[in-house]
Amino acid sequence: MKQYKAPVLSNQQVSERYWHMVVDTTIIDSSIDPGQFFHIKCADKYTPFLRRPLSVYRINKNTVEFLYLVKGKGTTEMTKIVEGETVDLMGPLGKGFVIDPTSKTVLLIARGVGVATLAAVAQESHEKNIHCVAILSARRKDDLLAAEFLEGFGVEVYKVTEEDGTSDVVDVRNMIVNEVFRKYKIDCIYTCGSRRLSQMSQLIGEQFDIPGQIALEEHMGCALGACYACVCDIQEEGVTKSVRVCIDGPVFPLSKVVL
Ligand SMILES: Cc1cc2nc3c(=O)[nH]c(=O)nc-3n(C[C@H](O)[C@H](O)[C@H](O)COP(=O)(O)OP(=O)(O)OC[C@H]3O[C@@H](n4cnc5c(N)ncnc54)[C@H](O)[C@@H]3O)c2cc1C
Repeated sequence: MKQYKAPVLSNQQVSERYWHMVVDTTIIDSSIDPGQFFHIKCADKYTPFLRRPLSVYRINKNTVEFLYLVKGKGTTEMTKIVEGETVDLMGPLGKGFVIDPTSKTVLLIARGVGVATLAAVAQESHEKNIHCVAILSARRKDDLLAAEFLEGFGVEVYKVTEEDGTSDVVDVRNMIVNEVFRKYKIDCIYTCGSRRLSQMSQLIGEQFDIPGQIALEEHMGCALGACYACVCDIQEEGVTKSVRVCIDGPVFPLSKVVL
């Protein structure tokens, strides 16, 4: 287990509910992959006692960026960390996404802050000359802030929101099948952030014979495989088995996860 006190280069509110943190990772000597996460001590005190897991949003040579939704006590405490302070990180942890360099076009399907996890897939795909199409679903237009970030990597972004009445799963499925699949042969589907969208992604993956990967987000305790707080089920050769999201995942083959 690797634990670091990493300098915070910035920590800013980027929309009503989202914050963005940039951390200097010069002291981290291991490579960091899309889909991996850090287990973060949110405050320099005993509460909140449990760390909170955050995926890497963007991976740079000497920095890592996090995009986080302010949800409860942990993430609220994180907003109080200011530039120049350090943040206590454990990681990088977990098994990330596998990005096949022979892929030509891949589809990202993210709901809400799920985009924070998939953005690094877009970044690596861009580096590997793989075209990305992304469906970003959110409650409000204001929550679609990562769209521009993805577009910067050449991603073709489709935005759907509850506010616009465009985010219903049936409509999203129709958009994928009637627009995206007509335009491109999709080599892989990557998804994160919504059980309903993931179920739909699993079904279209099965129907159109497209492999997929999903990043699961469960409450975590230790993130080291010891506490079993983050167990979920997968199906392998007709047998259901329990896996720990922290060390067996958080990324799993989409077809295997019991949703
Ligand atoms: C691998 C992974 C990557 C993630 N990446 C991101 C990301 O990039 N951006 C983002 O915004 N969110 C991400 N999340 C979700 C994020 O971790 C949660 O939103 C965050 O932990 C919420 O913490 P909170 O204290 O602000 O909110 P709360 O919902 O208040 O905190 C969670 C509540 O549940 C309790 N709790 C936490 N863990 C446990 C547990 N193991 N057992 C029992 N109770 C528990 C806490 O004590 C607290 O009361 C990720 C989650 C996972 C698993």
